[in-house]
Amino acid sequence: MTAEGVHPAAIHIDGGRIDRVSERSAHAPGDDVVDAGNLVIMPGLVDTHVHVNEPGRTEWEGFGTATRAAAAGGVTTLLDMPLNAIPATTSVAALREKVAAATGKTWVDVGFIGGVVPGNAEALGDLARAGVLAFKCFMVPSGVPEFAHVTDADLREAMPVLADLGVPLMVHAELPAPIEAATLEAAAGDPTVYATYLASRPPAAEHEAVATVIMLAESAGARVHIVHVSSADSGAMIAHARARGVQVSAETCPHYLHFDASQIPDGATEFKCAPPIRDAAHREALWGALESGHLGMIVSDHSPCPPILKRRDVGDFFVAWGGIASLQLGVSVVWTSMRERGLNLERLVEWMSAAPARLARLGERKGRIAAGYDADLVVFDPDAELTVTADMLLHRHPVTPYLGARLRGTVEATYVRGALAYDRRHGPALTPVGRLLLPSAS
Ligand SMILES: [Zn+2]
Repeated sequence: MTAEGVHPAAIHIDGGRIDRVSERSAHAPGDDVVDAGNLVIMPGLVDTHVHVNEPGRTEWEGFGTATRAAAAGGVTTLLDMPLNAIPATTSVAALREKVAAATGKTWVDVGFIGGVVPGNAEALGDLARAGVLAFKCFMVPSGVPEFAHVTDADLREAMPVLADLGVPLMVHAELPAPIEAATLEAAAGDPTVYATYLASRPPAAEHEAVATVIMLAESAGARVHIVHVSSADSGAMIAHARARGVQVSAETCPHYLHFDASQIPDGATEFKCAPPIRDAAHREALWGALESGHLGMIVSDHSPCPPILKRRDVGDFFVAWGGIASLQLGVSVVWTSMRERGLNLERLVEWMSAAPARLARLGERKGRIAAGYDADLVVFDPDAELTVTADMLLHRHPVTPYLGARLRGTVEATYVRGALAYDRRHGPALTPVGRLLLPSAS
C-alpha cells in the first residue's frame, strides 16, 4: 500500500528506514528477504489516543502490556494520554517519571501527550520542549482527581501559548451543565439500564463544547483537535469551522462506529464510555462524516481498568469506570464495517495511520510506505476472519465489549522500524523493539 494504492512491490529496508520501494524482484545477495505472498503490507497504524496508566495505575494497564497489544493490533506508534497515570503528565517532572517508567518496555514506538489543567499554562512551553507531541484537556470532570477539567478562562490562557508553540490541543468536548441537568432528570431511572446512562450524557453536551472550542481556537489562532466525536451534528460544526480557516480536526473511535445503543444489554458496563455509544442514526452519521472528510481519523481511546472497577457485579452504569479496551482489535473492528460498506484499504490507511501521524506531527516519518519513512509495517490479511476470545487479548485485563465478536481482517505480522514486533503464530517478539519518541532519541 503506497501512495499509488495497492500493487505488487518490494520494500527495501536499511537501518530501520525504508530505503526504496521497487517493483517485485531484485534483491542483493546477503539481503534478508521476507516474502509476504499475496498479503497486504500497509503502513503501521498510528494511535494517538491511548491511556497506558503507568506509573501509578499500572494494575490497570502498563507499557509492556499495552504495547504488546498494540503490536498485535498492527499499531506501530501510540501516543500516551496524560491522564490516568499518577502523576498526570502536566509538568516536566511528571513527564520524566513517565519516561522512566516506559524506557525499555515498549514493543512499539511511544510518544507522549502533555496535560492542560487549570493553572499550568506556565509549564506548557517546557513540556513542549521536553518532547510532548500534543496536549490534551477535559472540559468536563475527567474521572480522576489528579487531572482537573478546564474552564473557558483556563483555555483563554492556554490557547495563545499553544498557538505560539505550534502544538495541537486535543479536547474532550463535553460540557458539565447539560450533563448535570440530564443526570438529574435521569436519576429516577434504573441505573443498570443502558438507556438511563445514555440519557444522562446528551449530544447537546458535546455540541456546546465543540462550539466553544471552535470559538476559542479561532480567536487564539490555536490548532485544536476534538477527540472521540460521538454524535451526528459535531462533524458538520467542525466542517463549517474548517471551511472558514479554523485549525480544527476531529476523530471518532471504533466503538462508536461498530455498536449502537440498541445492542447494549442492561448491566453490560463493559460498553460504558463517555461520551456514550449512541443510537444507530448517530453511528451512520459518523460513517458519513468520515466519508465526507468532516471527521479525519479513527483512534482507539483504549482506556482499560481492572475488571472489578467495571462493577459488572451490580451492573450500575453510573458507578462503573468509563472506558473501552480495544487497542488490539481496532483495525479488525473498523475493517469489518468498511468491507460491508464498500470502503477500501486506502481509506483505512488514511484514517488509522496517515491522518493521526500528521496530527502527532510525525507525518514526515510515519504513516506512509515511501523512501525515507520509518519501516513501520503491518502484514494484513483483509479476508481472514477471527473470533475475539479472552485468551487472545494481550492487554492487561481481558475485558472488552468485543468478546465473542466475529471480525474480518487479521494482523499477520507487525514491524517497527524494520524489526519484527509481532507475528501471529509466535506472538510478540521476545524483547521490546519500540522506542520513545523524544527529542534526544531521534
Ligand atoms: Zn481518552
